[in-house]
Amino acid sequence: MKILALNCGSSSAKYQLYDWQKKQVLCKGIVEKVVVDHGKGAFIKHEVPDRPVYKQDYPCPSHKDALKLIFDTLVDPKLGVLQSIQEISAIGHRVVHGGSKFARSVSITSEVLAKLKENIALAPLHNPANIEGILAAQELMPNLPQIGVFDTAFHQTMPPHAYLYAGPYEWYEKYEVRRYGFHGTSHLYVSKRAAVLLNKPYAECNIITMHIGNGVSHTAIKNGISVDTSMGLTPLEGAIMGTRSGDLDPAIIPFICQRENKTPAEVENLLNKSGGLKGITGKYTDRRDIERAAKEGDARCQLAIEMEAYRLKKYIGAYMAVLGRVDALVFTAGAGENSPLLREKACEDLEFLGIRLDKQVNSTARGKETLISTPDSRVKVFVIPTNEELVFIEDVVAILENRYDMHTRFTYSFQSKDYKP
Ligand code: ADP
Repeated sequence: MKILALNCGSSSAKYQLYDWQKKQVLCKGIVEKVVVDHGKGAFIKHEVPDRPVYKQDYPCPSHKDALKLIFDTLVDPKLGVLQSIQEISAIGHRVVHGGSKFARSVSITSEVLAKLKENIALAPLHNPANIEGILAAQELMPNLPQIGVFDTAFHQTMPPHAYLYAGPYEWYEKYEVRRYGFHGTSHLYVSKRAAVLLNKPYAECNIITMHIGNGVSHTAIKNGISVDTSMGLTPLEGAIMGTRSGDLDPAIIPFICQRENKTPAEVENLLNKSGGLKGITGKYTDRRDIERAAKEGDARCQLAIEMEAYRLKKYIGAYMAVLGRVDALVFTAGAGENSPLLREKACEDLEFLGIRLDKQVNSTARGKETLISTPDSRVKVFVIPTNEELVFIEDVVAILENRYDMHTRFTYSFQSKDYKP
C-alpha cells in the first residue's frame, strides 16, 4: 500500500510518498513559490533515496498546477518511483485548523469540507491553502480516498481551565474563541518516541515537548495526553518564533493602531510576519544567521538569542508546574534538533527542577535521537527529530483499515522491527 502525504501551504506544496508494507519513504519533495506572482518563479525539488536531488523550474499559478506537477513527477520514467498513479491507495492532507469540530483524523466528505470552510475564519492564513490542496487532489484523483489530518486534533484533550481565555465567556459561546494549539502531529510523534526511549508505557508518561522550528510551540503531556500547549486560537500565541511575536499584551495592538494609523488586521499581520526573531534582529529569521551574527558582536542578535531562550525557559518552568512529575523534556524541529546553544540556554540553571544537561553531549547532538541529559538528571532531556508525515501516513492507513483509535495513533511503525527513526 502506497500513501501520499500532502501539506499545502499558502505558497508551497510538500509531499512524501510512503510504502506502507516496506515501511519506506519512496520519495519526498516540495513545490515552492506556488500562486505568488502567478506562480512564475515556482520550482520543484524532488528527492528519491540514493539518487541526486532533482530541481526544476515550473510555473504553478495554482495549487492544482503544483499537484499535477507532483503527480507527473511521481510517474515520470526517469524521475518517478511509480509505474502508474493508480498505485497510490490514499492521500493524507495536513489541515492546520480543525477547530473543535475535529478531534481526530477523518475521511474527507462534502460535509467535512463544508466544516473546514467554516474554520477558515479561525485560520485565515492556513486553512484556505489546505482546502485548495484537497479540492485539487479530489479533482485530479476523484476515486482516491482523501483523509484530513489536523494540527489541532492532538490538543483536543485539554481541559477547559487550560483552553479557555479569561475574556467574556460569551466570546467562547458565540465564536468558539479558545486555545486550540498546533503542531499536534509533531508533539504526538516525538512524545511517543520519548516513551519508547524511556522504556515506559506512553499512558504513564509525563512529557514536555518543545517544537522549535520557524513556528514554535510547546506542549505539556500528562499520562499520554495533551493538557496544555503554548499556541492558542491561532499559531500567533506562545513562544518567540521566526517571524511571529508569540505572547504579548493585547493592549499593544490598539496602542500601535492609534500611533501608526493602522487597522488591527494590519498590526496582526505585522505580528505574524515581522515580529519574533525577525522583529528583534531587524533582519534575520534563521537562528543560524542569528547565532553567527551574535558571535560577531551584533547586539540585536545577541538579544534575540537571550529573549528566545528566556521565553523557552519560562514555558519549561510553567509546564513543570502543570505536570508535577516530568519524565522527559524533548527538543524537536529545525532549531530544537540543531541548535545546542538554544537548548543549553533554555535549560541553564534548571538543576533545581531536576534538569541537568550534559553540555558535552548536547554540543554535538544534531538531527538524531540523543539523550542529552546527565545520568543523574531526574528529567531525561532528549533531542528527537520529528516526523509529522509518518503520523499522517499512519492515520491514513488506520482509517483505511477501519482501526483508527486516537489512543493508538502512531504506534504501528515504531513497533515494527524495521523502524529506524
Ligand atoms: P518549519 O517551521 O518551517 O518547518 P523547521 O522545523 O525546518 O521549520 O526549522 C527551521 C528553522 O530551524 C530555521 O529557521 C533555523 O532557525 C533552524 N535551524 C535549522 N538548522 C539549524 C542549525 N544548524 N542551527 C540553528 N538553527 C537551525
